[in-house]
Amino acid sequence: KYILAFETSCDETSVAVLKNDDELLSNIIASQIESHKRFGGVVPEVASRHHVEVITTCVTEALREAQISAQDLTAVAVTEGPGLVGALLVGVAAAKAFAWAHNLPLIPVNHMAGHLWAARNVRELEFPLLALLVSGGHTELVYVKAPSDYKIVGETRDDAVGEAYDKVGRVMNLTYPAGKEIDALAHQGNDVFNFPRAMMKHDDPALEFSFSGLKSAFINTVHNADQKGDALDNKDLSASFQAAVLDVLLAKTKIALAEFPVKMLVVAGGVAANQGLRERLATEITDIPVVIPPLRLCGDNAGMIAYASVCEFNHGNFADLSLNARPSLSFEAI
Ligand code: ATP
Ligand code: MG
Ligand code: FE
Repeated sequence: KYILAFETSCDETSVAVLKNDDELLSNIIASQIESHKRFGGVVPEVASRHHVEVITTCVTEALREAQISAQDLTAVAVTEGPGLVGALLVGVAAAKAFAWAHNLPLIPVNHMAGHLWAARNVRELEFPLLALLVSGGHTELVYVKAPSDYKIVGETRDDAVGEAYDKVGRVMNLTYPAGKEIDALAHQGNDVFNFPRAMMKHDDPALEFSFSGLKSAFINTVHNADQKGDALDNKDLSASFQAAVLDVLLAKTKIALAEFPVKMLVVAGGVAANQGLRERLATEITDIPVVIPPLRLCGDNAGMIAYASVCEFNHGNFADLSLNARPSLSFEAI
């Protein structure tokens, strides 16, 4: 059984081949980050055009690296949402064309389910599980009772964690996306600013997040110092910002674990690459396995979409050629 998967929801064009549900034979990732850096974020039209330019080459490369041909394939999987509509459409159109040309079933996959299932690369998942999904556009705690049975039990009211990293990175004049660099700087500084930890009071919703207040506090601190002619140390700013973020992520995850008894915790999404987060999870959550995808599978990639497509395949959740992009698809819609 071989699945060919497509991912084009944002600024990575990616195509992967998964063999027998757990052997990732290839995972080609063409990043467009160099084209978006100078704009300080992803420009949707530029993203779509790049996807169109490289997607065919990515398919050829993925099959070549997997050492199989189109005739060997069992199914085609594709991210249907959430993401940028024009970017998603390129992957959906390519997957539909490929499935039609080779007479293969087509499996639509939720991008956030993909982030979660990247953990399958580490070990077999056991249910029920809790997932902390932290990425550029999402921050959510998801209770997964069984494969394909997702329920969001807490999410952010405003900014996503990755988005907050990128926005404060801009204030420190770091290049986009800034998460990785802030993580490195944080390890060399100290939490001297004690930024607010939001939604942590007794009467706050226990599992909801908010990062816009932290972002504002950060920006105000930098601007006030600027006006006085002080230049603040990016290391201490980063350490303080990261400490505030991690305190909240850890606290909310622990509350959720107390409320929902589960067999394992999965932490995934682009921000799951964060070393500070990994260190704190390792020392603070020791009673159940904590499964985090390897670094190369934390950011967007088609390998994770292939892993997520397996349970949909087993449930016979196929789409026909009327499949369309669903830019604001949520777990609740499944
Ligand atoms: P979504 O998955 O919600 O649709 P996305 O696909 O744009 O959004 P991802 O690719 O999953 O997001 O993650 C990208 C984000 O991860 C960026 O905001 C980036 O700054 C952040 N990130 C990457 N590495 C780290 C790190 N080491 N520490 C913190 N953040 C990081
Ligand atoms: Mg990206
Ligand atoms: Fe993503």
